[in-house]
Amino acid sequence: MRKISSKLIMKDERQITMLVKGVPVTIMNSVRRAAISLVPTIAIDKVYVFENTSVMNDQMLAHRLGLIPLNTPKNKYKTKEEHDCEGECPECTVYLYLKAEAMDDHVIVKSGDITSDDPDVYPIYSDIEIVRLAPGQKIELTMSARMGRGWEHAKWSPVTVAVVRGEPKVRIFHNKCDLCGECVKVCPKNILKIREDKLIVTDIYKCTTCMLCVDSCPKEAIKVDIDENNSLIYMESVGSLKAEDILVSAFDEIIRKMKEFTKAVKGE
Ligand code: SF4
Ligand code: SF4
Repeated sequence: MRKISSKLIMKDERQITMLVKGVPVTIMNSVRRAAISLVPTIAIDKVYVFENTSVMNDQMLAHRLGLIPLNTPKNKYKTKEEHDCEGECPECTVYLYLKAEAMDDHVIVKSGDITSDDPDVYPIYSDIEIVRLAPGQKIELTMSARMGRGWEHAKWSPVTVAVVRGEPKVRIFHNKCDLCGECVKVCPKNILKIREDKLIVTDIYKCTTCMLCVDSCPKEAIKVDIDENNSLIYMESVGSLKAEDILVSAFDEIIRKMKEFTKAVKGE
């Protein structure tokens, strides 16, 4: 049986990189896909336009509003599948409002001008430009935001980037290396260094396996391989969820799908 182990390489609020040993790239790709299309977030879905005298039409305004990332509170709102709801109910929907008017001067309406019924659901970034109003122009909108998944529309996808690749391996043949430094100069990630008369790799997980070092070496003293049996997964959040929560939820979504599959097979 294959031994599986995980190692956290890097993590902050918006990004996470993990090495999962023993899980091939082809399998880990399902986690990447689940993160893109199955992990639920909250996003503006319907826009009720009471007044819009701006130059932007209602549809374009609604499209822009839908793409504004909203903070998604954990376990607070339900998805369509999680409850029986015909339309908008407090379990799945939160209302937000946008009202702006330009009097004597131009006004730039930004995401930070949106107000919400729920203090936990708000635009992550306050400086996203929505529309410019000329003097005399006005908008007044009510928006309903609901939980959804990326497969319905990209506005619900929690990630900007989700990548899986094999583990990079850089081998240095010190008996052949004359420390000429050519590979150090060409490495775009600056991870090759000569220290104490030895060529070393400072951060292997930053290696993009571009092979520039291999091509530059006159002595064939460096070799780069990709181990597809181990997976390096990297995700960047749009901001609606923490990067680590997206990764954990992606695994949860796969387990949920597997349970659904099992039930279907058993005819339950
Ligand atoms: S393969 Fe590219 S990124 Fe990796 S060590 Fe070589 S030059 Fe640097
Ligand atoms: S280019 Fe080749 S010989 Fe020169 S330092 Fe790099 S590995 Fe060594």
